[in-house]
Amino acid sequence: MIDENPVTVNRGTGAGRRRRPRCQAHRFGVFLRNGGCLKLIPSISANMSISFRILKRSKRSRARLGLLQTPHGEVETPALVGVATQASVKTLTSEAALQTGSPLLICNTLHLHLKPGEAAVKAGGGLHKFMNWPRPIMTDSGGYQVFSLGFGMDHGMGKILKTKTGARVSRYQQPKLLKIGEDGVTFTSYLDGRQIFMGPKESIRIQEKLGADIIFAFDECTSPVADHEYTAFSMERTHRWAQVCLRTKRTGQALYGVVQGGKFEDLRRRSARFIGGLPFDGFGIGGEFGDDKKLMARMIGWVVDELPEARPRHLLGIGHPEDILPIVQAGADTFDCTVPTHYARHGTAFTSTGRLDLNQSRFLKDQGPLDRKCGCFVCGSYRRSYLCHLFRAKEATVMSLLTFHNLHYFNELVRRVRLEIKRGRI
Ligand SMILES: [Zn+2]
Repeated sequence: MIDENPVTVNRGTGAGRRRRPRCQAHRFGVFLRNGGCLKLIPSISANMSISFRILKRSKRSRARLGLLQTPHGEVETPALVGVATQASVKTLTSEAALQTGSPLLICNTLHLHLKPGEAAVKAGGGLHKFMNWPRPIMTDSGGYQVFSLGFGMDHGMGKILKTKTGARVSRYQQPKLLKIGEDGVTFTSYLDGRQIFMGPKESIRIQEKLGADIIFAFDECTSPVADHEYTAFSMERTHRWAQVCLRTKRTGQALYGVVQGGKFEDLRRRSARFIGGLPFDGFGIGGEFGDDKKLMARMIGWVVDELPEARPRHLLGIGHPEDILPIVQAGADTFDCTVPTHYARHGTAFTSTGRLDLNQSRFLKDQGPLDRKCGCFVCGSYRRSYLCHLFRAKEATVMSLLTFHNLHYFNELVRRVRLEIKRGRI
């Protein structure tokens, strides 16, 4: 356990830079207040552009406090990664997204490839300058879109199976709208109908041009109804793609490998051992999570057991408020989810007393704030009656106000989880 109030020295040349002798052994120059130097937990990647330091491990669960250091600043973990699919947190300016306390964002490789194209983002100075976001950015690989445009669309489902269905995915089966082959995926653009091919090489080259701090290896996210044979077959191909991604990358960006294996313990453990044995800077835990939330936490646990302890773990695309604690206790360091922003745009506010559906007319008579315990400016300035009116009047402003509140609420929730780990209560 390391918890000695480290002082981090910026690598930039800002006026606030401290004049202390730098330790050449440590890339990010982390010093202790007592004048010593903090030894970072070593990573095996030679080209490391991030570092991850574990500050405290829970004695009660797999939860841990960490510090993820990137070229665009550091992130205390566990942390929620805000979703900025098209290089924007929907309805918010980047300045507003910063004020919600979002420590880092994840953008979508496939959507940005289709529009405006990675060349336009690169010409705009890369994602950080393009969207005026000073903190760290991740880009996903496009693998989830392969699923959502493929079997996900065929069967009308996401990563968690909400209702039982007779649908099955077996080996040799292909989705209706795309074709998955050994080198990658061919599909039709939803924008203009042109044929697009994306494989591990293409995904990495696109992500290099987008310029995020952390990029992901290309994978196939398998369906919750895929059988063991299909999931094993797909997982082995994802493993081959992971090696191609490592060989393709030319930049200093951090590259995370993605663990697959579906809901099958033998496959999840096998995938985590294989991906964990490769020189990735961190790991994504991807794919489907079965049909119940308890199983999801167990599945994360199988993976975490097999992954190298010293490198960060990101859970891809999961995170309702009630999921956050089990996810953290299962050992995830970061996680992204569209829930706070997506639900806001449909009128749902998350509060300390539960969800509110602002579409309901009863709130027109409610003069209270969204959440009395929330410190965000929306709760400080606006009443439920006004927000309800805006929704019913279809005023776009309300989506922005609810998105701000929801993101602030989620970030506060995760901050309190970090505090509880620090106090030894989780
Ligand atoms: Zn609020």
